[in-house]
Amino acid sequence: MGSRNADRIPLSDRYLLGRNVVDMYERRWEVISHCLACGLNMAVDLRLVARVSGPATSLWNRTARCRRIGCAGRVEFQAKAPGMTGYEPLRTHDQPDRPGWAQQQLAKRAAAEAAEHAARRRGPSPAGGHDDA
Ligand SMILES: [Zn+2]
Repeated sequence: MGSRNADRIPLSDRYLLGRNVVDMYERRWEVISHCLACGLNMAVDLRLVARVSGPATSLWNRTARCRRIGCAGRVEFQAKAPGMTGYEPLRTHDQPDRPGWAQQQLAKRAAAEAAEHAARRRGPSPAGGHDDA
């Protein structure tokens, strides 16, 4: 049909189509969790996630604890959109509205402020390590 081959489109290019679990469910994405330590793959029930965590829940750039007993690993989420031949990690970069982005920025700012506070509390300590004379 002259259109792009579906499995040539990287999953990250589909980010806007499947931003949250409801989008993914409606577009019939198959989502799994994949443990980076033990390799356990489990199907993710998108409807269940939507019901438990809310329809706006996003699995992009998320990890969770592995559910296998005795495994301390983390799982990442992978998805397969219709037409794709395999699962790809739900990872995306440079999306300003990507999940966690705002929280990350806030956390960074909070950390910077905390460091500044700590530095101020410590005062101009000679043992501060700044030795640029
Ligand atoms: Zn595991």
